[in-house]
Amino acid sequence: MMNDKLMLMIPGPTPVPEAALLALAKHPIGHRTSEFSNILAEVTANLKWLHQTESDVLMLTASGTGAVEAGIINFLSPGDRVLVGCNGKFGDRWGEVAEAYGLQVEKITAEWGQPLDPAVFAQKLAADKDKQIKAVILTHSETSTGVLNDLEAIVGHVKEHGEALMILDAVTSLGAYNVPMDALGIDVIASGSQKGYMIPPGLGFVAVSAKAWEAYKTAKLPKYYLDLGKYRKSTAKNTTPFTPPVNLIVALHATLKMMREEGLESIFARHQRLTQATREAVKALNLPLFAADNCASPAITSVAPDRVDAEQIRSILKKKFDIALAGGQDHLKGKIFRIGHLGFVSDRDILSAIGALEVALRELGYEGFTPGAGVAAAARVFAS
Ligand SMILES: *Cc1c(COP(=O)(O)O)cnc(C)c1O
Repeated sequence: MMNDKLMLMIPGPTPVPEAALLALAKHPIGHRTSEFSNILAEVTANLKWLHQTESDVLMLTASGTGAVEAGIINFLSPGDRVLVGCNGKFGDRWGEVAEAYGLQVEKITAEWGQPLDPAVFAQKLAADKDKQIKAVILTHSETSTGVLNDLEAIVGHVKEHGEALMILDAVTSLGAYNVPMDALGIDVIASGSQKGYMIPPGLGFVAVSAKAWEAYKTAKLPKYYLDLGKYRKSTAKNTTPFTPPVNLIVALHATLKMMREEGLESIFARHQRLTQATREAVKALNLPLFAADNCASPAITSVAPDRVDAEQIRSILKKKFDIALAGGQDHLKGKIFRIGHLGFVSDRDILSAIGALEVALRELGYEGFTPGAGVAAAARVFAS
């Protein structure tokens, strides 16, 4: 009965609209054809629009991790000192990547569920008088916890330093939250197709500033497939250095058009509304939110239920409603569940998920809420 009605409310892969599904179902076209070049030209222009940049935005056949790795290794040399913001699974991963390439990593940490303190970045950068820090690597929206780090403040401190590049994992903030690359002065932005882009996994994106291209000239870390110089050259000629996933790019062509029609301001406002409705509903159900209101990710809401089992909630939502929520990662496994609201998500999806969540809570014998209170709280946000 509930076959083929899966509702993905995980933070990637995210739901895919029909226009993209239809593009994926088409015969692949040759990637050295003018037909494909024309598509690539439009895709590239729209990617720049999405990143709010005049600089290059390059596409890799890779998941988001490949995009971040490329964003690190193209601009640095062995032994370079880097600051890495670590307050969740993804921040930790970028520390591991940097270490794997022999960079001198200094982690700036916060407890999982807390945002990073911009003052610690300010302090470290200000103390670096002889400009040894070559990059600051930051995860904007830390998907593992649902925390949005204070990009504006941190990038401000990086600008004051002058030398260090700002390398940003915007995998679950781009296309959900305002990340104006040029206006903020971000040097590298990495993202992935299965998140805000509304298409399946398989493409990674790296945006590169003029300052980062300067660093590229002297960067000595090894690279071949992820050498962004190759992608830059090809992209300028509306082609790709290697065989790209042509169908994914045709699908991306369709979703970027959808995004342009909706408009950046509307996209950000929609994610803001979805986030607020979800959080108000969770509060009305008397379930603890894992991240505070002032650092809430626009893509994902983490809930840390104390009187019901997070995994049982997920299991009921999946079995009874075919709604997929995400669990906790690493030491948060079993402690939190996460509601994704990134990309092709509407008000209706949140109402469904909250309604289903209420059913699961009742089934588990949790009596800490008035039936209907969660849905009513979300409805109030959507009606206003
Ligand atoms: C999904 C995600 C990534 C990329 O993960 P992949 O599995 O490699 O696509 C990176 N950073 C964040 C914050 C993410 O949510």
